[in-house]
Parts: sequence; C-alpha cells; structure tokens
Amino acid sequence: MSYASHLRCRECGRHYPLEPLHVCEFCFGPLEVAYDYQALGRHLTRARIEQGPLTVWRYADLLPADSEQAVDIGAGFTPLLPCHNLGEELGLRRLYVKNDCANPTWSFKDRVVTVATTKAREFGFDTLACASTGNLANSVAAHAARGGMQALVFIPADLEQGKVVGAAIYGPTLVAVDGSYDEVNRLCSELADKYPWAFVNINIRPYYAEGSKTLAYEVVEQLGWRAPDHCIVPLASGSLFTKIWKGIKEMAWLGLVDWTHTRMSGAQPQGCSPIVGAWEHQSFDIRPVRPNTIAKSLAIGNPADGYYALKVLEHSGGFGVAVTDEEVVQGMKLLAEAEGIFAETAGGVVVAGLRRLAGQGSIGRDELVVAFITGAGLKTQEAVLDKLTPPLRIAPHVSSFEEAIAHRREAVAAGAEVRPSRSKQR
Ligand SMILES: *Cc1c(COP(=O)(O)O)cnc(C)c1O
Ligand SMILES: [Zn+2]
Repeated sequence: MSYASHLRCRECGRHYPLEPLHVCEFCFGPLEVAYDYQALGRHLTRARIEQGPLTVWRYADLLPADSEQAVDIGAGFTPLLPCHNLGEELGLRRLYVKNDCANPTWSFKDRVVTVATTKAREFGFDTLACASTGNLANSVAAHAARGGMQALVFIPADLEQGKVVGAAIYGPTLVAVDGSYDEVNRLCSELADKYPWAFVNINIRPYYAEGSKTLAYEVVEQLGWRAPDHCIVPLASGSLFTKIWKGIKEMAWLGLVDWTHTRMSGAQPQGCSPIVGAWEHQSFDIRPVRPNTIAKSLAIGNPADGYYALKVLEHSGGFGVAVTDEEVVQGMKLLAEAEGIFAETAGGVVVAGLRRLAGQGSIGRDELVVAFITGAGLKTQEAVLDKLTPPLRIAPHVSSFEEAIAHRREAVAAGAEVRPSRSKQR
C-alpha cells in the first residue's frame, strides 16, 4: 500500500494533491512526492519488506503508485556483487557493484518507468511518452506494450543502434529528432502542454523519479540492513543521484537502518559535465553545455536536477569527477575483464571516476563503496568495437589453431597490442 500523501514544491514548500502536476504554480519550482512518514514508521518493518516480491514493488509502501495494479515486467532486485578483483586494482578493500544491467530492458530506467507507467494508467492516460537519451526509450516502449498503452518515444537521431533496435522491437511510434537531447526535451515539453499524453520524465516526473529510490533500498537490504560509506553514481539530469540519497535517508528516518554518514559522489563524461563543472567551481550555478561524448545516455547539457545534485554533493561531502572518453572505454574494459560485467558507456564513466577518486585518496581504502552500474554494454557496442582483440581466424584443423595461437603469443610477447587493423594485415 502506498503511503504517498501529497506533492510538495521543492522551493517554496507548497502542497499539491497527487495529480499529474510537476511544477509549482507560484514559484515554478519542481514538485516532489511526500509521504506520511509517521504512519510508515508504525507499519513498515524489515520483515514486511522481506516478504515482498523480488522486484521494485517490494518497496511499494515507499512508492507513489498502487502496486496491485502495477505494470510490472520485473524491474529491480538486481545483484549487488562484492568485487575483489576490481577492488584490488583500484585499492579498495570493500567494493561492491550494483549491477543494474540485469533489468528487463538492461538499464536502471525500468525502475522509474514501472512506477511512472503504473501511475499514468491510474490517472487514466492511454498514451505513454518520453524524451529519451536512449535507455528510457527502451523501457517506455516495453512497459507501454505490457500495460496495453500507446507509446510515443522521442530520441535524438544520432543514437546508438542497440538503443534504437531495443526500443523499436516493442512497436512504439519512435520519433528520431534532428537535434541534441536538450532539444528533444524542449520539444517534448511543448508537446506535453498541447496533448493529453503521459510524458514519464516531464508531466509525471515527480512519480517517475521516485522509482530510483529503490536502488538505495535494495543496496541497504542486500548489505544486511546497512548503508554504504560511499556511493558513486553516474549523473545525467541528476535525478537518480538525488533519489539514491533520498532513499538512504528514508531508510534511516524509518529506523530500518542505523544512520551512517553516506558520501555521494557523482561522475560525468568530460564532454558533458555541467554538474561536475559547477561543483569544481564551488558554484550552484549550472552553465548548460553542448554535449560531445560517447556516453550518450549521460549527454544532458542542461540538467533538470543539477542544482539538487549539487546540494547532495555538498551535504553528503561527496566528490564530482569528470573523465575523458578514452577513460570511459578503459573503464568499460576494466570492469569486464576484472569482474565479468559488460556495462555500457555510463558504467565506464563510473569505473573511471572511481579509479580517479581512489587514486587521489578521496575514497579511503577501507570504506564500504558501492558503484552503481546503470546500463548494459551490448547497447553501446560502437564504443568498444574497434578497441577489442579480434578473434583468431583459423581453418578447421588442429595445425591451423596451433599456428595461430603461437603467432598470437609471439605478438603478445613482443609487446604488440593486438588490434583489428593489425589482424587484417595478416
Ligand atoms: C538515464 C541514465 C542515467 C542517469 O539518469 P539521471 O537523468 O541522472 O537520473 C544513468 N545511467 C544510465 C545508463 C542512464 O540511462
Ligand atoms: Zn513553489
């Protein structure tokens, strides 16, 4: 049962009913869902949570939609893996990866979209829509299919093929816009004013955003009801980052976990780092940028929740970190080679950011660190395709195999990097 009680303006604190609203009429501040924490405190226990389903709906009491009517394709309850190999590489003794590649459409967006879709249907919308940097498109198209709704999905035209196919397969109306994500988002805001559609990340954004809190709840539960010392999270609009923090604080307010001072660090690609840029200048004034990075899922130049992400960085004592595209690729390879996890570019941003922060001593060796890996690598193959060792090409004979293996070993012993261009010359 949901204990959501009202919407509240994050700026002036005015209250609104639980309706499809997203901005304050008085100050234009963003609205956020508030809960009856007193009632929650009386009813919500660890045991009650542990009896729930192995999806985000396990935490239905803390979500703003009716779980009995959930549009559910199984989002959530993804693995939290202790990562000794990667930890050793980075100099961290207690490192965990929260692997959200394991969601139904292979990214954390399923968490927010299952909540948004459920709420949109509750409100009576028959069309689900979004402005997407890629992963959201996949998740909205899938949940609309499951929920029997029309889907209208807007993406920037230069998106990776894996993300285009990963949305188109569910049969939405897919609209590729010649422009950046920020331009797609502006267009969709205009359309949301004009048509009666549920844009999950625009007019029902307050409900959508709450789905991200489940990442925090799961991590706390999977650690045996303990909060991490340090979280490192990728930043696009900044929403995910602020909601992980909200989720950890709620667990503490409700007495489900002892208060640990969790530091929240955020990572962005250097080619689109307006939040980290402001943090570095100790400013709360975000200067919009024109994105230029391979981490397209994080390519938001004008981040809607950037200001609130900066507040969380400040309050929690975390760090901002921006990494180059080359470091992103190295991060993807490191995570795959050390732990067997093939993450998308956003995961590369997190691993590369973690390497920086651990290397400069910003994160201590004994801290319990959770790295949030938010999307799967098969969707962004373009980023690594020509940076991997190609297969050995052989005839179907033992001798051909042995010759090829010997050749490869010689090349490696001679210190050559084995790259596709090289293999083609053979
Ligand atoms: C959308 C997305 C994020 C972050 O999103 P916010 O807008 O900051 O909430 C992070 N990683 C991946 C893979 C995403 O698709
Ligand atoms: Zn207000």
